[in-house]
Amino acid sequence: MGGAQAGAGERPAPPTTGSHGRGRPIGAGRQGERPRLQPWPEPGRGRSRSRSRSRSRSRGGPGRSDRGPSRPAVNPLYESTFLFDNDFPALRPDAPSPGPSDHPLFRAEPARGVCKVLCFHPWSDVTLPLMSVPEIRTVIDTWAEVSEDLGAEYPWVQIFENKGAMMGCSNPHPHCQVWASSFLPDVPRREDGNQREYLRRHGEPLLLAYGRQEARRKERLVLANDDWLVLVPYWAVWPFQTLLLPRRHVLRLQDLQPGERDSLAAIMKQLLTRYDNLFETSFPYSMGWHGAPAGPLGEAEAGHWQLHAHYYPPLLRSATVRKFMVGYEMLAQAQRDLTPEQAAERLRQLPEEHFRLRQEKA
Ligand SMILES: [Zn+2]
Repeated sequence: MGGAQAGAGERPAPPTTGSHGRGRPIGAGRQGERPRLQPWPEPGRGRSRSRSRSRSRSRGGPGRSDRGPSRPAVNPLYESTFLFDNDFPALRPDAPSPGPSDHPLFRAEPARGVCKVLCFHPWSDVTLPLMSVPEIRTVIDTWAEVSEDLGAEYPWVQIFENKGAMMGCSNPHPHCQVWASSFLPDVPRREDGNQREYLRRHGEPLLLAYGRQEARRKERLVLANDDWLVLVPYWAVWPFQTLLLPRRHVLRLQDLQPGERDSLAAIMKQLLTRYDNLFETSFPYSMGWHGAPAGPLGEAEAGHWQLHAHYYPPLLRSATVRKFMVGYEMLAQAQRDLTPEQAAERLRQLPEEHFRLRQEKA
């Protein structure tokens, strides 16, 4: 739990992001707003998809589970990334409308979408930091493709990875999930509003200005290359939370140039290697990409958006001692356990070589 050495109240609220899922009280939604209660998505069911029945160490994992009656019983062998439909999706394209409400406390709107799983690699015993830069580049290309494909139909395509049992992921096979929805979910909707307001007031996209400031100030910067920045955000609440940002103005993953995809693969490998080296463990986290809304919403002006990825790791002091968002954090406000500057310094000082490769050499 937060020791709050840094004093949570000393800094302004996050300009672009915040705690997940802290919606307004049930029933506080205004007319026409998507409600806090959604009867059709079944939160949590989608995660069970990644708990595949197959635990093959060599090949398999989430990509090798039993399939529905219209599909083959086993996914084909694959050589690099593999994208497939989630058998137990939280969002469905044909979800029925909730129907009229008879009370303002009980309102809901349709929530439709699709859920997919993307296996990063055919082997179950590797993770992204142990994959080669070209292999990670293939993952990035697949992210860009699925973002574009699903974005043609849905306004929000959420790519996210839960890594490690501590983050509720019991399947070690390297994979992420892709949920596309007919609505803009709470976190991106808040970011959309904040970025739109910043551009209106300052004439420049918020995260473009922010990245430039952090690149200049350097105290929260963890890694940088010609195209990308990794930093511990000024508003971080998780101990080793980071933000991955392109240096130039980029709206969506599919807008990345080939060279930017290569340099993204390289900086991801560097970041995730440092994460693993911090406590010499396969570092758990939830991460995800945020880009400009697509589909019908994307046709409107989206220049206030800047593509970025959030990494939210739970570990605090060791491979087993984690931060809990409980107590004061649930009831009042998130507390910091170390400052973003301290976290960035710790991450900067870690070796570039993965500890497992070091151990193999020893
Ligand atoms: Zn974001």
